[in-house]
Amino acid sequence: MLTIAVSKGRIFEDALPLLAEAGIVPTDDPKTCRKLILATTRSDVQLVIIRATDVPTFVEYGAADLGIAGKDVLIEHGAESLYEPLDLNIACCRLMTAAHKDAPPLSGRIRVATKYVKIAQRYFANQGIQAEIIKLYGSMELAPLVGLADCIVDLVDTGNTLRANDLEPRELIMNISSRLVVNKAAMKMKHEAISALLTQFEKTLANR
Ligand code: AMP
Repeated sequence: MLTIAVSKGRIFEDALPLLAEAGIVPTDDPKTCRKLILATTRSDVQLVIIRATDVPTFVEYGAADLGIAGKDVLIEHGAESLYEPLDLNIACCRLMTAAHKDAPPLSGRIRVATKYVKIAQRYFANQGIQAEIIKLYGSMELAPLVGLADCIVDLVDTGNTLRANDLEPRELIMNISSRLVVNKAAMKMKHEAISALLTQFEKTLANR
């Protein structure tokens, strides 16, 4: 049995067609079903539905053989213990700084609200900017509006969320896409099944 860890939301929606090309279709509708382990049309593959930030942990410990996770999550987690054989080119977006549209360019010591504490620390250190990082778990856009932070570091796709909150994107930190990650032991123990899946994904991606 191969277990693939995936999070609900954008990544899952973009991953479904890719999985379907490999003959992997959940037998329950993941939108309405509350099951955390989903059987698929392939009797040798099951999906576990978890939070995006937990995907590297499940794969690292071998609770899932494979996972699909954003590069943002993988870098923040520190995923050296995982193989990352494939850029799936799905759920593409940008990790950016953003500030109030009327705020002057950032200078001096600044406060930054984000869930990407490590990435933000590294980014501002490299820029030579003194930054106090405030960890938040959601609604980052609120922080500059209520004086909690001078700017945020968050994912930007269309920019609609920023615009709706009078914020604007400032600096690009990195482009993000979702990656396939593989547990190192599973790569050895289940090599045949995993490499067949990798080949199938590669074929689908090449035809896109
Ligand atoms: P948008 O309004 O289209 O720029 O999307 C921004 C919001 O969606 C922010 O709350 C982001 O954290 C979230 N978001 C954007 N792209 C992704 C992605 N690829 N994966 C997860 N969350 C995302």
